[in-house]
Amino acid sequence: MPSSNAQPLSFRQNVDLMVDRAGHVLKLDAGTLRAIKACQSVLQVRFPVKIRGKVEVFTGWRATHSTHLLPVKGGIRYAPTVDQDEVEALAALMSYKCALVDVPFGGSKGALLIDPRNYDRDELREITHRFTIELIQKGFLSPAGNVPAPDVGTGQREMAWMADTYKQLHPEDINHLACVTGKPVLLGGIGGRVEATGRGVQYVMREFFRHAEDVRSAGLNAELADQRIVLQGLGNVGYHAAKFLSEEDGAKVIALVERNGALIDARGLDIEAVHRYKLEHKTAEGFPGARFHKDSGSGLEIDCDILIPAALENQITAANAARIQAKLIVEAANGPVSFAADTILRERGITVLPDIFVNAGGVTVSYFEWIRNISHIGFGRMQRRHDEVRNQRHLALLEALTGAKIADAAHHGIVPGAEEIDLVRSGLDDTLRITYQKIRDTRTRYPEIQDYRAAAFVMAIEKIAASYRDLGI
Ligand code: NAD
Repeated sequence: MPSSNAQPLSFRQNVDLMVDRAGHVLKLDAGTLRAIKACQSVLQVRFPVKIRGKVEVFTGWRATHSTHLLPVKGGIRYAPTVDQDEVEALAALMSYKCALVDVPFGGSKGALLIDPRNYDRDELREITHRFTIELIQKGFLSPAGNVPAPDVGTGQREMAWMADTYKQLHPEDINHLACVTGKPVLLGGIGGRVEATGRGVQYVMREFFRHAEDVRSAGLNAELADQRIVLQGLGNVGYHAAKFLSEEDGAKVIALVERNGALIDARGLDIEAVHRYKLEHKTAEGFPGARFHKDSGSGLEIDCDILIPAALENQITAANAARIQAKLIVEAANGPVSFAADTILRERGITVLPDIFVNAGGVTVSYFEWIRNISHIGFGRMQRRHDEVRNQRHLALLEALTGAKIADAAHHGIVPGAEEIDLVRSGLDDTLRITYQKIRDTRTRYPEIQDYRAAAFVMAIEKIAASYRDLGI
């Protein structure tokens, strides 16, 4: 373990230490552990695009961490500070995440070094088109091999452009739509994908609060509705998580920490209104009725019950972990807590629900979208009407047998067959609830680990190690 005056560890080194902890518990040999941690291949590309009459050269990466299952899967981020180490760390987290929640993909991640705010829509489309061609030509983007998704700085729009570029180069590929996920619904996406990661955060927290013993041992009150939440990052993940938790579960988001400061309202922020305000003004500063502190760093240290970091990696480190006041940290972002901070938080008795579990909703619904694309039919299309007719017959039979009339409201709740969005939500909820229960079981199976991160990593590494063994590696 490095001494305290050593260089800070890189993101990838932090992730590797988490794998080592799990490997130690599983008593894995050093060679297997090295094989699991190694990123199998990394592509770096540099490509020119003419912007406003001048040639600019862009740098991008796509890392494939593990191909024990194909395709490999993971987001592509557009960010002004990103490097190969970060992309490799994120690709590794994808392998562990997919293994944990039984999504049959290997792990990958990509990034483009760019500040998207400096380019207009047409310029971004051209840059994305060129980047996609590089990825396709080098074998780092295809429906069967490597399937990107949105991440920081990208969304449905970029995925639509990537899918369109792939279709232009491979019009004969009947599965061309499955080359990326997170597409707009009318261009082969699936309802529920945009909000899937945030929705998943909500489902994870609901499941946690179903286990009174776990809630008690985190030192929290019994009900999700009683909780005071501090959220970092009102992007895709943070916005949806905070919106659902406040509007549907009654939790109070008392502070939003953004790049330029923290917006605070002890009565609870109206997330939809703050989001609208931020879209219009490009900042949360000045939102009516709430205080704004320009120091965003100390925002994470605000007194609260639950802290949800939903922005970037390495936000809670050895430098601020001792000052965190939350009792529960729900890692919606990838890698927001460093390895050293994780140790400090554990010693302080602060419970952490780890990223590879908490934000797995995104890849889970991406999996559903990919299946929908390769099967060329929406979920439920064949049986929805059939189910409805059968449900009507059941109710008619019940009425005939009992002589009672079943109220119309009950009819509405029972008769209709499931829409695709109902099935997506059901599959997502089921995946995350079952995974939570398995993580609990793992904590019981290995009494030497009590934290959720170690248990989640043990589950993921155990599965990947078994695959490698079966493959003869
Ligand atoms: P996004 O680009 O939509 O939003 C990021 C938000 O964080 C923005 O509001 C931005 O202003 C804010 N932010 C950036 N730097 C900050 C800082 N230093 N302090 C405070 N706020 C800051 O990105 P996203 O898709 O919501 O992703 C957020 C995190 O969730 C990332 O770690 C990403 O890898 C992870 N994640 C995303 C998905 C997904 O489906 N989009 C899935 C799994 C994990």
